[in-house]
Amino acid sequence: MLIVMQAHATEEQVRAVCDRIESLGLKPHPIPGAMRTAIGITGNKGAIDLGVLESMPGVVECIPVSKPYKLVSRDVKEEDTVVRIPTPLGEVAFGGQHIGMVAGPCAVESLEQALAIGERIASSDAKLFRGGAYKPRTSPYSFQGLGEPGLEVLAKVRARFGLGIVTEAVDAESLDLVEQYGDVIQIGARNMQNFSLLKRAGRARKPVLLKRGLSATLDEFLMAAEYMLAEGNSQVILCERGVRTFADHTRNTLDLSVVPAVERLSHLPILVDPSHGTGRREKVLPLSRAAVAVGADGLLVEVHHQPSKALSDGYQSILPDDLDRLMEEVRAIAAVLGRPLVPPAAGLAAQPTAAQAAKAL
Ligand code: PEP
Ligand code: MN
Repeated sequence: MLIVMQAHATEEQVRAVCDRIESLGLKPHPIPGAMRTAIGITGNKGAIDLGVLESMPGVVECIPVSKPYKLVSRDVKEEDTVVRIPTPLGEVAFGGQHIGMVAGPCAVESLEQALAIGERIASSDAKLFRGGAYKPRTSPYSFQGLGEPGLEVLAKVRARFGLGIVTEAVDAESLDLVEQYGDVIQIGARNMQNFSLLKRAGRARKPVLLKRGLSATLDEFLMAAEYMLAEGNSQVILCERGVRTFADHTRNTLDLSVVPAVERLSHLPILVDPSHGTGRREKVLPLSRAAVAVGADGLLVEVHHQPSKALSDGYQSILPDDLDRLMEEVRAIAAVLGRPLVPPAAGLAAQPTAAQAAKAL
């Protein structure tokens, strides 16, 4: 159910409707819009008696929402959600007209590694650095991530280069720490239906980047996001990272058709991850171009300065020089669509080298 308020409805009127919804044992979700506020209602098992709400001051109409997902739906909020991430280098926005970039290694391996890559990411105009301190791995014998010391390394990358940090939480315990150290909490593909983790992320005060599950349908993907909005976190960025198919020429099949499909149904921004989506370095650039052309609100790309020595996902990590080219080409495609890619950062020329930075820390 969606309650649409009049354009000039007062805050008191909105509050009174929310109080009334609560008194019915339901949960109100006020959604401020450019023109008017709407109030989503969740928690109802059956039909709600509209009369009590429809006659309240400031209410225009009550609209039943028939889709299983409500708060993520365009029925409830027509305009695009723009998720804005403040970083010391400036804000990065995803959604609406904005296209944002996230780049960095699969895993944080050492301070030296993270600083060497961070320096190159910062000079490429990307402002968000990705790197896992907690790695969900298929094999228990593979590198599992550095844990909290890895988050400390990320904090140093942030302090040194001004990059915002995107890093993955794999359970409630790591989410507590990721929320403290990071700027964006990543929920990985394997955890897309870890409902207790989704609820915890919904109570977090940081934006969440939610990756599509390996075999998730569009409805399942949106329902996973709904868990977080239902808990009160509306700052959710979706991420297509490839799904499992019969194709064996790539690690996964990057489903770019999901981008316009999400855009039609949901107001949330959607990124594309061509690194996990293809699993092959040489396919990252062409799929990045295609992702932006199809309407993605940003890219998440794995970058490593020494991919052959990477502890995870080296074969799909591009080199820092490749990132510069990718940014240039993607910027040109974005311009055709009238969408600016993150503006060039100023004053990075005077940054110390990674070796100097490592010594200084
Ligand atoms: C990652 O981003 O490094 C990762 C583990 O991604 P996914 O959850 O999409 O496999
Ligand atoms: Mn990876």
